[in-house]
Amino acid sequence: MAKYVPDITTNRWIIIAEGRSKRPKDTGKQQGTNKICVFCPGFEKLSGSEVYRLGPGEPNTAGWQVRVIANKYPITDFHEVIIHSPDDKRDIDSLPLEHVHKILLTFRDRYNFYSKNGHVLIFNNVGDAAGASISHPHSQLVVIPKQINLDALTFEPIMNTVGESAHFTVFCPDFSQWPFEVWIAPKKRGEYFGQISQEAIGDLAAVLQDTLKKLIFHLTTGQHFHPGVPMVTFKDGPAYNFYIHHGQDWYIRIIPRLVHRAGLELGTGLSVNIIDPVDAAEILRQEIR
Ligand SMILES: [Zn+2]
Repeated sequence: MAKYVPDITTNRWIIIAEGRSKRPKDTGKQQGTNKICVFCPGFEKLSGSEVYRLGPGEPNTAGWQVRVIANKYPITDFHEVIIHSPDDKRDIDSLPLEHVHKILLTFRDRYNFYSKNGHVLIFNNVGDAAGASISHPHSQLVVIPKQINLDALTFEPIMNTVGESAHFTVFCPDFSQWPFEVWIAPKKRGEYFGQISQEAIGDLAAVLQDTLKKLIFHLTTGQHFHPGVPMVTFKDGPAYNFYIHHGQDWYIRIIPRLVHRAGLELGTGLSVNIIDPVDAAEILRQEIR
């Protein structure tokens, strides 16, 4: 059982999850040794019990295209791992587009499966700096009881547009807390993620892939110098988080992990963003190739 501890004066909650410290660590650093990856095909019986799959085959055997398992080291009472594909290296930015579509269909199915149980948060951690402990591309889903107050950002007006598609707008909000923070918002407002239409989910696959490609390309190569804008790059391969806002008026928030939070921020709750979102949007718009 997860333990929720309230902070009465601020109305914030803490989750105490001691079992988390037992989880194995593998972010690809120890390559060359015969490491096994428990998320790769062939190791289904080691990774955790399967609750969902796209693709043929019996549960806990190979043949799957997208696989969902119960997290062996849960933070909350419902905590799942969504393994993006059998591919140990390629992620949303580089998998075939029709496969990205399948990942998003899985997100929607699992979101709707749990939506009556509490707040459903789907999130993705890539790279050490973003808190990933296993490098095989995957996302996670947690369900947090309805009575727990979540301190999440609500949707604000669109500005600094990077691009748009039939159903979505990509932008760098004026209130961005992190350098190169990017939001993807549906044009149809007021819905929960689980209500996304079949047509919009196909569109989202392309928009999400394109946005991650641009971010990774720009922040990895660092070749695009823009006068007056500080050069920030990924020091140790791509590192970012994204999550799908759990509540009504959903959006996807992508946060590249280029900087650490420090004393001023911890002591005040204020964020210091070294990149003006106006510049970030301009730079990403030029990244269209
Ligand atoms: Zn793997």
